[in-house]
Amino acid sequence: MAVQADELTAEQLRDQTLAWLREHLPAGWMDALDAGDITTWSKLRSELDYDAWCTVLGEAGYATPTWPTEYGAGLSLSPGQAKHVNEVLNQYRVPRPFNLIGIGMGGPTLISWGTEEQKQRLLRPMAANQEIWCQMFSEPGAGSDVAGLATRATRDGDEWVVTGQKVWTTLAHLSRWGMLIARTNPDVPKHKGLTYFVMDMQAPGVEVRPLVQITGDAEFNEVFMEGVRIPDSMRIGPEGEGWRVAITTLMNERIALSGAGSLSGDAAGGSPAEKLIARHSPVPDPLDRQRLAQLYIEERLIRLNNQRAAARRKSGGEAGPEGSITKLMQAEFNQRLQILAIDLEGPAGMAWEGEGFIEHGVIGFTSSGGETSREIVRSFLRSQANTIEGGTSNVMRNILGERVLGLPKEPDNSRDAAWRDVPRSA
Ligand SMILES: Cc1cc2nc3c(=O)[nH]c(=O)nc-3n(C[C@H](O)[C@H](O)[C@H](O)COP(=O)(O)OP(=O)(O)OC[C@H]3O[C@@H](n4cnc5c(N)ncnc54)[C@H](O)[C@@H]3O)c2cc1C
Repeated sequence: MAVQADELTAEQLRDQTLAWLREHLPAGWMDALDAGDITTWSKLRSELDYDAWCTVLGEAGYATPTWPTEYGAGLSLSPGQAKHVNEVLNQYRVPRPFNLIGIGMGGPTLISWGTEEQKQRLLRPMAANQEIWCQMFSEPGAGSDVAGLATRATRDGDEWVVTGQKVWTTLAHLSRWGMLIARTNPDVPKHKGLTYFVMDMQAPGVEVRPLVQITGDAEFNEVFMEGVRIPDSMRIGPEGEGWRVAITTLMNERIALSGAGSLSGDAAGGSPAEKLIARHSPVPDPLDRQRLAQLYIEERLIRLNNQRAAARRKSGGEAGPEGSITKLMQAEFNQRLQILAIDLEGPAGMAWEGEGFIEHGVIGFTSSGGETSREIVRSFLRSQANTIEGGTSNVMRNILGERVLGLPKEPDNSRDAAWRDVPRSA
């Protein structure tokens, strides 16, 4: 009798993943890593057809192991089971899709709120990295207070017509689809008049302008929308319920940014703190040794908190506000780690040769170190964004105060007034 996915043990999952990788990775890849032969592995990696590989990995379900199999991607595993699969993928440095906003945030939102038709159409190419996704929430006048946003969508028969501007839109320049929240009713309080759509980034009226950041990359963009038409079949969730749908996206964003999975310590070469210790050991300065020990402890704490949050999700379904704990910890931990990495690098940490660092549009989102001085400098520069992206650390502290500790809500005079009547800057 066939074993159900949810009955597979850790050992079975590891064996199954290893067998699949042996069959699909280029010959010699796993042997090279087993033997610590990074030169051979690097050559094989540079010869790999990344796009074709992402399709094979995604369609086999290994890019999104927790997604239900019926949508052409996923293995229908629990988060606890998926951890065993991911450990093997990390161990063998398996390239993954850079479609992190889609996979980390868009997929879970569609799985919770999408229609059957939307899931059948959108999930498989997302997991296979064939259709890249971006998140169009923030606006010039609405970042932390995203519910105050001004982009308007008005109904016209079976379509919606969208006009407005978004900013900070990571990967918009490479995206096929955008998760868009727009105001569909300005006469009710700000959280109530929003609707969530999936917008075709190639539709007439969409203009994407890249913004260059401190690393020299341009990973995010301004997006201008002028009379863009979205079919009603691409609305996610009910009209006026966009805020509730957006919360699902934001909770999953915090998990994606919290280091869940990336700090398991099981990746090739170890966790970020372990890699730093290995690169510089023995560290002569006792104060630097103390900083390293402190980071090692913090990394373990984040790992344990991620495990606790995963266990909670396993028993209770959706992601809760606890994702804000590790989002906050991970952002501040990574900034301290990158400062120490630069300090330990010495003079090589002060100079940086060569071009920007974007590879396949891959973003610093997951970046937590590197193997050359150049990558370490880049990670340091990129880490400045950690305490802003996905909600600032101040805002995480507000969420934790209100929703985890039960403290009184922050005063907000605009909360109950009709959005139209709330003063805002031009
Ligand atoms: C690298 C990067 C990538 C991003 N990618 C995306 C993306 O793909 N899609 C997207 O929609 N957005 C994206 N963002 C935007 C991000 O979500 C916002 O920058 C963030 O929410 C803060 O908004 P803001 O920049 O408008 O700052 P503001 O909200 O104007 O905040 C300014 C300052 O005021 C503080 N502050 C604001 N409100 C409060 C409060 N209530 N209590 C205490 N302090 C407060 C903030 O902490 C901050 O220090 C990205 C940002 C970065 C840096």
